[in-house]
Amino acid sequence: METREYAVPVTYVKCAFCTAKNHCAACSAELTGDLRARSGVADAAVDLLAHTVRVRSGLAQTDIEDLLEGMGLMAD
Ligand SMILES: [Zn+2]
Repeated sequence: METREYAVPVTYVKCAFCTAKNHCAACSAELTGDLRARSGVADAAVDLLAHTVRVRSGLAQTDIEDLLEGMGLMAD
């Protein structure tokens, strides 16, 4: 499967600390592991400090955005 690299600007809305302080290292690590386990995702890196999710995937961008929103990661 051909993969593309995506960088999506996001805010994580399911954690009060992430929302209030705009970053949370624990959530970044947890979400990175969660994303990497999803089917169709070759690699992922969640950086809430930078408000960015990087995903390498064969999925379309809209599918990735749906996936992220389902996890509480809302596009900025
Ligand atoms: Zn958090």
